[in-house]
Amino acid sequence: MAVEKTFFLETFGCQMNVHDSEKVIGTLQQQGYSQVETEEAADLILYNTCSIRDKAEQKVFNRLNDTKKLLKQGKRFGVLGCVAQQEGEAIFERAPYVSLVSGSASYRKLPEMLARLEAGEKRIAGLDDRQTDETFETEFTARSNKYRGYITIIEGCDKFCAYCVVPYTRGKERSRTSTSVLAEARRMAESGYTEVQLLGQNVNSYRDPEGKRSFAELLAAVAEIAGIRRVRFTTSHPRDFTQDIVDVIDAVPALCNHVHLPVQSGSTSTLKRMQREYTREQYLERIGWIKQSQRPISITTDIIVGFPGETVAEFEETLSLLETVQFDAVFAFKYSPRPNTPALVMIDAIPDEEKGKRLQALLDRQREWQRANYTKRIGQIVEVAVEGHNAQRGQVNGRTSENITLNFAPSGPILPAPGSYAQVEVTQSFPNSLVGRAV
Ligand code: SF4
Repeated sequence: MAVEKTFFLETFGCQMNVHDSEKVIGTLQQQGYSQVETEEAADLILYNTCSIRDKAEQKVFNRLNDTKKLLKQGKRFGVLGCVAQQEGEAIFERAPYVSLVSGSASYRKLPEMLARLEAGEKRIAGLDDRQTDETFETEFTARSNKYRGYITIIEGCDKFCAYCVVPYTRGKERSRTSTSVLAEARRMAESGYTEVQLLGQNVNSYRDPEGKRSFAELLAAVAEIAGIRRVRFTTSHPRDFTQDIVDVIDAVPALCNHVHLPVQSGSTSTLKRMQREYTREQYLERIGWIKQSQRPISITTDIIVGFPGETVAEFEETLSLLETVQFDAVFAFKYSPRPNTPALVMIDAIPDEEKGKRLQALLDRQREWQRANYTKRIGQIVEVAVEGHNAQRGQVNGRTSENITLNFAPSGPILPAPGSYAQVEVTQSFPNSLVGRAV
C-alpha cells in the first residue's frame, strides 16, 4: 500500500501569491500529496513567501524558526515565492534545515524537484528567471473557491519603481496570449465559475503576444463569455491606465464597478523620487476619466508613507489627494527599504516613529472619508455575490460589484446559496462594510 504523503502550505502576500499557491497545491495533489491543515500533520512544510516589505520577509524566517523543532520528526521544509527568488540559495545558509527553495517561475518543475526531495537530496533550488511562456501553464491549478477564481494574464514588471523588489523577484514583464486567457476563462465558466479576476503586477501593461486584443478588448472578451457574470482586474499602473478601460467598463455590464489604481503618493516630487513616471496631475486626470463614467465606479488605492525625503508638506499633498479623490479603500504602509532596490541608497532619515504618526494620521482621515462614502450608499439596491452565511446571526455575506463586503438579512427562511446572486437594499454602513436586506 502506498504511503500517504502530506503537505502544509501557508501563503504570505498578494493575490498573485494566493493564485500561485493554487498552482502549487494542484501540482502537489497530482503528485500524490494530500494537503493538511497543520504543520504538525505534514511531511512537507511549505511557505509561499512575500518580500514586498521587510516585515513580510521577517515573518517567514520567524515562522521557520518557530517550526523547525518539528524537524525532529523528520519533516522537510520548503521556501517558495518572492523571498526564495530574492535570497536564492543563501536561504540554505540562513536556515540550514530548509531543503527546497523555489521561485514562482519554477513551479512547473515541482514534480521533478519533489522526486529529488523524496530521494533524499538535501538542497534543491529552482530559481528560473521567468523568461519562458511555460510559467503561465495552470493545468493542475486547484482553485480554492468554486465560484470566484483568478487568471494570471501578465507576469513580472518592467517599471522598476525605486522602492519595489518585484522586478527582481518576478522578472521581466511577459503577457500571456489572449487565446490562452480566454480558453481558461471558458473552462472556468463551464465548471461553474461566475466571477473571474484577471491578475498581474501591472495588469494594464498587458500586450497580447498574438497582437489580437488590447487589454480593454481582452476585458470585454472575458466578460462576454456565457456564464461569466463578474470580471475584475488588478493591479493597474496609473501610467498605463487609458480612457478605453473606462469606456469598456461603461459598455460591458459584467465588468465590475471597481478600479484599484495605486497612487503611492500625492506629491509629484515624491512620485519622481519613487520613479513612478507620472505626476499628481496625471493621476488626477485618470481619476477624472473614471469619475466621468456613466457607472458609479469605486476607486481604491495603495499609499507608501515616509518614503526617503518625504517632507511634511509632501505628506500633506498625499492627504489632500485622498480628500480630493474620496477613495473607497486605501491600503497604506510605512516605507521599508528592500534589497536590490534603487531607494536603498537614498537616505532614509525619517524616524520610524514619525512614519508611524503619518500613517496613523492618514488612516484616521481616510476612515472618516470612507465612512461618508459608504453612508451615501444607504437606500441603494445593489447586486451581491453570495459567499457564505453567518448561521448564528441568520445573516448572509457577500460582495458587491464594487468589491465591498455586504452582510444582509435574507428575504425568507431559505438562505441563498454561495455562488448565487441577490438583490439587496443597503440599510446601514460601517467604514469597511455595508449591511442590508434582500429585496
Ligand atoms: S509598477 Fe512599481 S510597484 Fe508595481 S510591481 Fe512594478 S516596480 Fe513594483
